[in-house]
Amino acid sequence: MHACPHCRQPGISTLSRLFLGPRGTTDCTKCGKAVGADPDRILTAAAPAVTGFFASFLVDSVMAHVLLIVPGIVLSVVMLLTYVTLVRR
Ligand SMILES: [Zn+2]
Repeated sequence: MHACPHCRQPGISTLSRLFLGPRGTTDCTKCGKAVGADPDRILTAAAPAVTGFFASFLVDSVMAHVLLIVPGIVLSVVMLLTYVTLVRR
């Protein structure tokens, strides 16, 4: 669980944090107030996955596709859970 920007209690689940998106909101399970993710940081966090996806068009082998796409997605998920901050909505 992640700390809510309203009440500072662990009211935001990892799953709902992952699927927030730039405009999405989720309700804190402790205080019930709406929480979103910092939109600028979401765009930055999406960059590795997007870059890996488009870079995969430049290669032919399946293994090269996987080596470009999978690390990008993993890095984006890690950034979503660490670098992207939760904000009040
Ligand atoms: Zn809260």
